[in-house]
This record gives sequence, C-alpha cells and structure tokens, in this order.
Amino acid sequence: MTTAQILSRARQEKRKVLTEIEAKSILGEAGITCTPTVLATSREKAVSVSEEFGYPVVLKVSSVDISHKSDAGGVKVGLKNRAEVEAAYDAIMTSCRAYAPGADIEGVSVQPMARPGTEVIMGMTRDKSFGPVVMFGLGGVFVEVLKDVAFRIVPIDGNDAAEMVDGIQGKKLLEGYRGKETADKARLQEMLVQLSSFVDATPGIEEIDMNPVFAYSDGAMVVDARIILSEE
Ligand code: ADP
Ligand code: MG
Repeated sequence: MTTAQILSRARQEKRKVLTEIEAKSILGEAGITCTPTVLATSREKAVSVSEEFGYPVVLKVSSVDISHKSDAGGVKVGLKNRAEVEAAYDAIMTSCRAYAPGADIEGVSVQPMARPGTEVIMGMTRDKSFGPVVMFGLGGVFVEVLKDVAFRIVPIDGNDAAEMVDGIQGKKLLEGYRGKETADKARLQEMLVQLSSFVDATPGIEEIDMNPVFAYSDGAMVVDARIILSEE
C-alpha cells in the first residue's frame, strides 16, 4: 500500500497508531531503509514468509493495541528454522493475549534478522512552540539515561543533519571506538533529511520513532518503527 492509502485507511478506522508494517512501508516510500517486513496472519503463513526471506528471522506481534512489543513478550529474534518459527508464533500469541486481553492482534510481522550495528535512534515529535522537530541519538542507555539526543526544527538541510550527528556527546561511538565498526554518518544525515522532508510534506503526523536503527560502515537500517497520527 502507498503512504496515502495507509493514512486514509487509518483515518477511516479512526485510529492514531500505525503498525510497524505500516510505519516501515511509509518510511520506505520516503527513502529511508527499513528491514523488509511482512504480515503473517497464521502460523503457517509465518513459516512460508520466513522461508522466503531465509533464516534467521524475527517475529513480532502485529497489533495497533500493542505498541511496545517486547513488554508484551511480542518479539522473538534469531529464529533459525521452521520449528523455532512455529514455537515463536505460539509463544507470542499466548503472551500477548495474556498481556493485553482485549487487544486486536492481526498476526505477526516477519522480517529477516538484521546484522548487528551501532544502535542509533531517529524520530520526530511536535513541540508546542516550534512545531515538528526531528531528533537523533544513540540507542539504549544513551537516550534513556543520559538523554544524549539532538533536536532540530523541521525542515532541516544537510548541514543541520551533520550538526545533529556530530552534536551528540557519544559521537565517538559512531567513529569506530575500540575497534567497533564505524557508522556511515553521511547516510545517517541523509536519512534525517529524508525524515524531515517527509514530515514537512505530510500533514497529520504527530510522532515518529525509529528505535533501533542499526548503523553500519556502509548504510543503515531501521529495525523498528512507530508512527502516531495527530487528532484530526
Ligand atoms: P519494541 O516494540 O519492544 O521496541 P523492537 O521491534 O524494537 O520492539 O524489537 C526489540 C529488539 O529486538 C530491538 O531493540 C532489537 O534489538 C531486536 N530486533 C528487532 N527487530 C530486529 C531485526 N529485524 N533484526 C535484528 N534485531 C532485531
Ligand atoms: Mg523498538
């Protein structure tokens, strides 16, 4: 589905939360690289999609009512064969039904297991005075504990994006700290500009959260994405 189709369907259904599959499809259309992610509405379909991708794969609960999927026991990574996919499907359903009894669960999303990279986050929120802002930071404790994030008002250009990426305290971690793979800063900057352009061109987006994004020496990949729509 196109971005326009996804947004109008969500509006028709009077929902503000998009699924990870919808969010990645929209971001992909904006030029932002995401792991290919396909909905499976049954255990059998989860297996056939997995076999098409090739193992290892990741299964995640797909529900507009469960947006923090791990909290619900809704994420299983590193699945290596049919039996593991089947077991993961059942475990996700059992755990998510117990966690959120009334939740409307459409199935699971299936995606290839991404190679580990440097974890970063990108997103967009609305500031009461400034309007839409984009943000960039390192993942995990860097954002949660240290609040090491950079913000800029939309729209941003390449220079703004470069300042954001170089503006975080932990920027050394993007530069091959202690033998770690360096992060492709040029691509991260480009993705921030793409995010800003998308937000600027698309009314009705309240919040975007790409967490985590895996940065590599050549490119970067969004592994999880959330989009919230504004009140009409
Ligand atoms: P949540 O809704 O809980 O944020 P995520 O989709 O972010 O769920 O998945 C939780 C964690 O699982 C991620 O932080 C990441 O470490 C790992 N993960 C998710 N998808 C993939 C993937 N395609 N490849 C590798 N690791 C993944
Ligand atoms: Mg996440």
